[in-house]
Amino acid sequence: MANDTPSNGRPPRNSPTGADLDVAAVRDKYARERDKRVRAEGTDQFNFAEGRYAHFDDDPWAGPPAPREPVAAEFDLLIIGAGLGGLITAITALDAGIEDFRMVDITADFGGTWYWNRYPGIRCDVESYIYLPYLERTGHMPTERYVRGDEILGYCQTLAKQFGLYDKALFQTKVEAVEWDGEASRWNVVTNRGDRLAPRFLVTQSGIFSRPQLPGIPGIEDFEGKIFHSSRWDYEYTGGDLHGGMSNLADKRVGIVGTGATGLQVVPELARDAGSLTVFQRTPTAVNVRDNGPTDREWFESQPAGWQRAREVSFNQIGNGENVDCPIEDGWARFFYTLIDAVERLPEDRRTDIEAVAAAQEQADFGYNEVLRERVDNTVRDAEKAALLKAYYRTLCKRPGFSDDYLPAFDQDNVTLVDVSTGIERITPGGVQVDGTEYELDCLVFATGFELGTTWVHQAGYDIRGRGGRALSDKWARGLRTYHGLFSEGFPNVFFLGLTQTGTTISVPHMLQEQATHLTFVIAHALANGVSQVEATEAAEAAWQETIGAVNEARRPFQEACTPGYFNAEGKPNDRRSAIGSGIFFPSTQFFTDWESWRQAGEFEGLVLR
Ligand code: NDP
Repeated sequence: MANDTPSNGRPPRNSPTGADLDVAAVRDKYARERDKRVRAEGTDQFNFAEGRYAHFDDDPWAGPPAPREPVAAEFDLLIIGAGLGGLITAITALDAGIEDFRMVDITADFGGTWYWNRYPGIRCDVESYIYLPYLERTGHMPTERYVRGDEILGYCQTLAKQFGLYDKALFQTKVEAVEWDGEASRWNVVTNRGDRLAPRFLVTQSGIFSRPQLPGIPGIEDFEGKIFHSSRWDYEYTGGDLHGGMSNLADKRVGIVGTGATGLQVVPELARDAGSLTVFQRTPTAVNVRDNGPTDREWFESQPAGWQRAREVSFNQIGNGENVDCPIEDGWARFFYTLIDAVERLPEDRRTDIEAVAAAQEQADFGYNEVLRERVDNTVRDAEKAALLKAYYRTLCKRPGFSDDYLPAFDQDNVTLVDVSTGIERITPGGVQVDGTEYELDCLVFATGFELGTTWVHQAGYDIRGRGGRALSDKWARGLRTYHGLFSEGFPNVFFLGLTQTGTTISVPHMLQEQATHLTFVIAHALANGVSQVEATEAAEAAWQETIGAVNEARRPFQEACTPGYFNAEGKPNDRRSAIGSGIFFPSTQFFTDWESWRQAGEFEGLVLR
């Protein structure tokens, strides 16, 4: 593989260039691989917690809730969701002097995604030194560069304790109805515990990696063995915990469907502990080096004040194509520098030519993936398996994979890899049938992702009735309509957190901090100045749709060429129903700077303050 060197006086980064590849042939190969996997139903191919699997909406990590009196109270702010989004919003609110707030979550503790997901091998694939917020304030030193899920869950609880949030939280409480009372300028929120909460402001989110998604495979209701979703791991059945030790599986024939970011972490654990493991793979994930290791205390303690924010910002900058020195040298950085270096190799006058940049980055991306395919050959001894494990799609079509133990697991004698690129025929009472062959199983694990392709209201599990009783499910039936991703016309005093029409970041807590800073600024201003209602104007929202639409249009050719996944609404990028489908704003560096200028201007442009 040719590894050319970028210019600009930097030390060589040795980024792949793809210069020796036949671009047309690679494109053609990618298109053929995509076409095998595209399904006419798009996102509708999936099922959710229904029928036999309705219990996937239940919480396996907590017993029935302890009885409590319903709460009837008025206060300034209600935060729905006690994951990282809720925690960051709460801490940001406290920093701004907003103390009169409550939090509510269906879970029994803080943690959100990290509360639900406790599968064996779970880790964050973003460096803990930026992913875990407020390290400089809590003094916590992550044990490793990429920490396990239980450390993140524990850290969420540490944050809640340190900032006094337990007293403000109502757990095991499901929001059922949310209605705007224009006269009182308050939201009326009703829960399944009989609470009547009346906050002036509401921060909410649909929660992104919490509700299990199941494949719509014929016969899925018929399997007579053990079946569960990765985010509802049944340790009672498997034994062990997220660190492994699933001794009950020693004599079991286990199957797994799903080889995405979760599958990558689960497979090595099952391969080690199960009698046999059959991996049903529709699309292989491109897997780069992980290179995890313990934190060097001396290094950690020598970091100057403000280091975490600086690290987070520069990581986001390279993710947005800005050629800055980022202290993070990992798989993410190597990939982004591959794209950055591709642009730097262009003559200076062509670096702003969109088509030239796209072509250079495409070729470099092909080169980057060729290196990963070579890595498969160099790692997996079984040539047939190696051929199946090679990924043929552009890197950002799916969540990039990083692992040092995933590929080697396939060389174990007890591991079978089954290609289901055109689909699994059916699930039978005894196992999984593919092309006429039945694979008999005792246990089937679905690492098939989360409900992300449905509407915001479907994912949230409750509707919101705004001004004049208008339902959010109506307004957003065909996708989000927001101003800056946070505000929506007709829905005063509510802020939408998460993957809305906003600036996104690889390290999700960074995005959440920017969102929390922005919305808290608005709430603090309203509370201090007797403003009872804050709402986006129709004109601002319409203009924002045009901005988002233009970004989506520019990205469409890339998304259409991508293999299906939740990033492109399962191969149908025009399906705008979901939050992801209806637009993510890039580049987020610019977006965050614009937000800062907006706050500094202090004019609340695009909002009506009543
Ligand atoms: P994904 O949606 O990424 O992957 C689902 C997997 O299930 C894919 O391999 C998919 O195949 C497969 N699948 C779905 N339906 C079928 C079917 N009918 N037959 C065969 N295979 C099927 O879910 P994950 O849980 O892996 O990850 C979701 C997200 O969670 C990630 O993208 C990431 O953002 C986050 N995550 C983050 C982690 C972290 O470290 N920060 C760790 C784990 C997850 P196909 O690709 O063909 O659709």
